[in-house]
Amino acid sequence: MQTLPKIARKKSLYSFTLSELRDYFTENGFAKFAADQVYQWLYKIQERDISLWTNVAKKIKEDFLTNLDTELPTIIWNGLSKDGTRKFLVRMYDGQTVEAVAIPARDRLTLCLSSQVGCAIGCTFCHTGTMGLKRHLTADEIVGQYMAITFWLKEHGNAERLTNIVYMGQGEPLHNYDNVRSATIIFMEDKGLGLSQRKITLSTSGLVPQIEKMWDFPPVNIAISLHAAHNNIRTELMPINKAYDLERLFNAIKKVPLKAYRRITYEYILIADLNDRPEDIQGLADLLDKQKSKINLIPYNDFPDSKFKRPSNSKIIWFQEELLKRGYICTTRTTKGQDILAACGQLKSEYEKLNLWDQREALSTRLESL
Ligand code: SAH
Ligand code: SF4
Repeated sequence: MQTLPKIARKKSLYSFTLSELRDYFTENGFAKFAADQVYQWLYKIQERDISLWTNVAKKIKEDFLTNLDTELPTIIWNGLSKDGTRKFLVRMYDGQTVEAVAIPARDRLTLCLSSQVGCAIGCTFCHTGTMGLKRHLTADEIVGQYMAITFWLKEHGNAERLTNIVYMGQGEPLHNYDNVRSATIIFMEDKGLGLSQRKITLSTSGLVPQIEKMWDFPPVNIAISLHAAHNNIRTELMPINKAYDLERLFNAIKKVPLKAYRRITYEYILIADLNDRPEDIQGLADLLDKQKSKINLIPYNDFPDSKFKRPSNSKIIWFQEELLKRGYICTTRTTKGQDILAACGQLKSEYEKLNLWDQREALSTRLESL
């Protein structure tokens, strides 16, 4: 991991789970129940201006302003795709940026969140993978993406609240287990945002040791980035397969505590002439249990200099139909926000490459024209 200059930072108000905030209150001589009120102001009422928190004691507000960081990350760029997907570039306190994407669909507004700056896993098809890992995001930076975008949406006249979360932005969420776990507990707190576990999806490349300890993670939906049904192809796409091959991965998956009605989603990027052959369909059928799996095909999203190609539309349809015929639940993800570089890590790289910190207008024009 790249070493970054240390910037002193106070603990963030957005880093506390409710039970941690209650402890903080007790330790500092404040009434414990006031932690619940603070949580309501932050997440339920969503009032950013602490001075307007009418039922919270002045000394508590003073303590926050002195001892805690009450700022959210800053949205430094956003772009709207033709399909309604809006992509945000979010800057953290130390200048590092990540991306988050708001995806509307019928009655839902899903937010795709980043869990790390960059990613250490290095998948060869993924733009984030080419960046390496810069650092983990803290729990408050993960919650902060959600809150900053919530306020942005409100300020821009969007009454709709974000309803779903997917950890499918930059980074491998299970590599940053503790922070993603805390953020998830914060998202699910009834006295706060109160998102249900069924509305949160964690996508992982298959970090076996962390999958094995998921019994202590809130029971959210799990998506596994499978991408290949044969070890040699998976290793070519995902170097993590060298350490944790398909056999080890599926042994770990069997132990994931799933509710009876839940299925695991398997994400499968379709790449022309690599994993779109009849033997790949057979490989999937050999690996996946029809009753417990859902397959989500993702046509490969090309990016400049990428070495892979997206299959033809007829090939994609054929692949899906073959799986449906075999009795699998199988969907094809329509690539969202292609005109704003919505695949993992692409916007951020483009932004950095152009080095347009002060010329955001020019960047938005360029991104919109892509
Ligand atoms: N690290 C986690 C979560 C973030 S990646 C994981 O890998 O599961 C989120 C999704 O974007 C993954 O399914 C990943 O495979 C997909 N993705 C990355 N690059 C892509 C590309 N070029 N085209 C299409 N999907 C891509
Ligand atoms: Fe990391 Fe996921 Fe990209 Fe692989 S696909 S490099 S795990 S972000």
